[in-house]
Amino acid sequence: MHRALLLVLLSFTLAACTPTVQHGPLLQKPAPGDAHVFAGAMVFDSRAAAFVGPKDVYTAGPRIVAVLDAGAPAPAAGAQAVRHDVSGRYLLPGLVDAHVHVIGSGAAPWDQVDVPAEDNLESYLRAGITTVFDLGGMGNELEHLAEQTESGAILGPRIYHAHLHITAPGGHPIPLVSELSPFPINMLVPYAVPQVAAAEDIPGVLDDAIAAQADYIKVVYDRMPTDAPRLSLELLTELVAQAHQRGKKVVAHIGSAQNAVEAAEAGVDLLAHGVYRTPVSQAQARRIAKTGTPMIFTTVVWDTVAAHGNRTWRPSTLDRLFVAEEQYRNLSEIPDDAPETLQVLTLETARNQRLWVPNIKTLHAAGVPLWVGTDSSLPGNYPGASLLRELELLTNAGIPPAQVLQAATLRPAEWIDADPMFGVIEPGASADLIVTAANPLDDLETLHRPRHILARGRLTAPVIAGGEKPPVDADAPPKTPAAPAPPAEQKSAPAE
Ligand SMILES: [Zn+2]
Repeated sequence: MHRALLLVLLSFTLAACTPTVQHGPLLQKPAPGDAHVFAGAMVFDSRAAAFVGPKDVYTAGPRIVAVLDAGAPAPAAGAQAVRHDVSGRYLLPGLVDAHVHVIGSGAAPWDQVDVPAEDNLESYLRAGITTVFDLGGMGNELEHLAEQTESGAILGPRIYHAHLHITAPGGHPIPLVSELSPFPINMLVPYAVPQVAAAEDIPGVLDDAIAAQADYIKVVYDRMPTDAPRLSLELLTELVAQAHQRGKKVVAHIGSAQNAVEAAEAGVDLLAHGVYRTPVSQAQARRIAKTGTPMIFTTVVWDTVAAHGNRTWRPSTLDRLFVAEEQYRNLSEIPDDAPETLQVLTLETARNQRLWVPNIKTLHAAGVPLWVGTDSSLPGNYPGASLLRELELLTNAGIPPAQVLQAATLRPAEWIDADPMFGVIEPGASADLIVTAANPLDDLETLHRPRHILARGRLTAPVIAGGEKPPVDADAPPKTPAAPAPPAEQKSAPAE
């Protein structure tokens, strides 16, 4: 059967057999064309990885139009701007989650909960994530969502996307997805996933990805489970060469240090995970660094998988703020009759947990650019909440917060576009801004309580820990009221 037909069948079957979660009130949709001035804040210069200022930042419609020293005369474009006095506060570019799957519930697979992509997109935005890189899904469906967030028809971040993962016959993600999908979808999975057995298969899978409007190509160069088939290095190298000839960058899912070295040296443009299942030596880290290929460690997803293996996973306060109860109600315990592949994967990942901080330190010391991404929405790993946690995991592993913020803003923007139009606070750039009460370089948790979030010029309601009303004109409450009170400094913050 033709693959496209199978995929349509698969998505209809999924939609038909899964209940839909009803979420709380949506964010307000401010009118496009709004103009704002954020006056007097210290501004994160993502190129210098430092705060500068104080500055007045003017936006008009979807763009930043001026960045001036605080108190300088307003530019002509700023005459009608809504003024936000944010002196003493901190302004940074909207964040980038560089590894997501915007379609998915994050619920236990055996629950079959359906969460509309719109809800996930809203959660990213509420965490200050104004751009996401989707690293594997139905390309045309993702393109449609990208167009809808671009036009403002739905609220959400800017979306770049791949098409489906390209893999070896029977390789990841076929074993896992087959085992976790209900009948009859599980029977269709092996036919739906693009697979390369020989060089002559490569043009066809690239044709399909390009026809599905993929911004880049996603390939798997790992064994998951560890006895699953994997592409040969020769086929990976050929696929990368042909993708580059056709103007597409290649993103590779890797697992071991050897996978990472080989993929980077084969010309892969981005490593979609860190080295999560073997130690990485200094020599290997230097070889990866020499290629300049960035790596998205996604510690948060491995931590989540390990917690499933250890039977210690519980929803965090942040998770409860971002998603509905249905999405985590049956995740605290993997049932004994859960698929064997999942049981093995979670236990193996739990055993590998001790490797991750040393690997991050070794890779960072060698100069491998480590980006920030989450692999949300895998079970227990939720949009928005997961990125805020990943920022902390990377800084706890020893990467300076300024570099982590640069990796979550400028770096992916430069990768997708040599002259980045997001990830920077500069005239002409997209009006994607976060205002925090404290300096995030001293206190990353301040990002849990953003004071304002602007996405392509639209003011949106952030999640505010503690259930208090957001301080600005958008007033959607958090999705669950069960959250601890905010710290005292937040309560006494000056009114704006
Ligand atoms: Zn992924």
